[in-house]
Amino acid sequence: MRGPRITLLGSHAKRLKDWLLGHPDSHERGAIILFRRISRSIKNLERSDRFLAVDIIEMNKDWVLESSKTHFKINMRKFPKIYFRCEQEGLELGFVHNHPSGINEFSVRDDVNEQNILHGLSRCNGINSFLISMILVDENWLARIRHGKDPERFQKIRHVSVLSDKIEIYGFETHDETQESLKRQEVAFGKPFNEKLQSLRVAVVGLGGTGSPTATMLARTGIGELIIIDGDALDKTNMNRVHGYTENDIGKKKAEALAHYINSLGLNVIVYPIPEYLGESSLSIDALSSADVVFGCTDDVQGRDYLNQAYSYYSQVLIDSGMAGNVEENVEGNPELRSQKGRVSCILPESGACLRCQRVITDQKLYNETTLKENPELLELDSKVLEEEYYIIGGTVQSPGIGPFTSITANNAVATLMNLINCFRKVPSDLRQDNIWIDFIHLHIHSNMPVQDKDCLYCGSNILLEKGEQTYRLGIPQLGKIPQNVS
Ligand SMILES: [Zn+2]
Ligand SMILES: [Zn+2]
Repeated sequence: MRGPRITLLGSHAKRLKDWLLGHPDSHERGAIILFRRISRSIKNLERSDRFLAVDIIEMNKDWVLESSKTHFKINMRKFPKIYFRCEQEGLELGFVHNHPSGINEFSVRDDVNEQNILHGLSRCNGINSFLISMILVDENWLARIRHGKDPERFQKIRHVSVLSDKIEIYGFETHDETQESLKRQEVAFGKPFNEKLQSLRVAVVGLGGTGSPTATMLARTGIGELIIIDGDALDKTNMNRVHGYTENDIGKKKAEALAHYINSLGLNVIVYPIPEYLGESSLSIDALSSADVVFGCTDDVQGRDYLNQAYSYYSQVLIDSGMAGNVEENVEGNPELRSQKGRVSCILPESGACLRCQRVITDQKLYNETTLKENPELLELDSKVLEEEYYIIGGTVQSPGIGPFTSITANNAVATLMNLINCFRKVPSDLRQDNIWIDFIHLHIHSNMPVQDKDCLYCGSNILLEKGEQTYRLGIPQLGKIPQNVS
């Protein structure tokens, strides 16, 4: 089994580094990290445990009985208050220290300290407690986890990721041999790049014109685990732009057909199809919450709104792509493509404006979508009538779907993930990393400015991550109760 994953926000990592490396005499230092555990058992998919950092407490001199360059002794009496907070807020305890001597592994003393802290924790909060232990050596985060039921043993982790305006990954599994299919990619980005991708669990939501090329390209780039979610069946009208489906797949669920195709490629990827709609399936939300990175490729506003909430609750990277276009009649009465653009939005918990601030999701669009879904007969009405009588503005025009444009946009989305892991782009100063449009008519690239909302619930703070979902998935009762954490 691949171990649990640990995620720190960029601000956490910076605060910890400043503290741990900041002792005036270069003594060893420590800090508490409080984690929210997102644990999901998903049928047919490896159990997923993600530990998301939500708060940091520096161990100042009240905590330290004595210290030197090779050790520091903690005042254990300071811990019960922390244990109590963990229980009250449903958090897991983390302890991090540094090794100024440069020793690049956990020491025998660390073994003893971890078990002491865990014993105290188990006595207060019960044996279903975890202790996440981390060390910082040479800019490198190492981590391991112990459980109250078996405190002497520790579990290896899959990786530690740090999310700032990029994705840093530490402690990932390394291999001697590079897979044959990734050798040319290694020429560009090096071996660790491939190993980092292999360490990721990625979800793709929506498997049509942008989603199917996104998912197939992700598989080719060497992503370790791919969750593909879509409740739709393949239609013949999709065939001008989708990737990976054959004629035999028409009428079948896209998720299952695409998984079949990806499995036939002979790549080292685990693909897990969920043939259900996000808003109607607790399984898909649970699978979504287990991902490190989410690609939004849906064409519905409600689906995007769920993703926009998920990335803040679950400390995820959200890469959302969408198309915008419009066709008008020319003087001869023939259709003329007046505008056609592909957007890639790239949002991390502490970088980039969310999809609401980017105006990709608006209350008007949500209202239009729900009203038309509930009253499909309105689709027949003239746009003027819709606007005047039903307050639906610009809601029923079917946008064109053109294969090369949807494919370019999908590939640009996948390249955006690659750039987050190995920053190769030299972005011009008039472009924003979080919102990039390719205009296929005028052949230029531009960004839209987001609205500046400092109080935004999603991108303005980490309030959702800190508070947690409580009872319901994404805090929304219709999405059902969150299953009890399993140990
Ligand atoms: Zn140590
Ligand atoms: Zn926002």
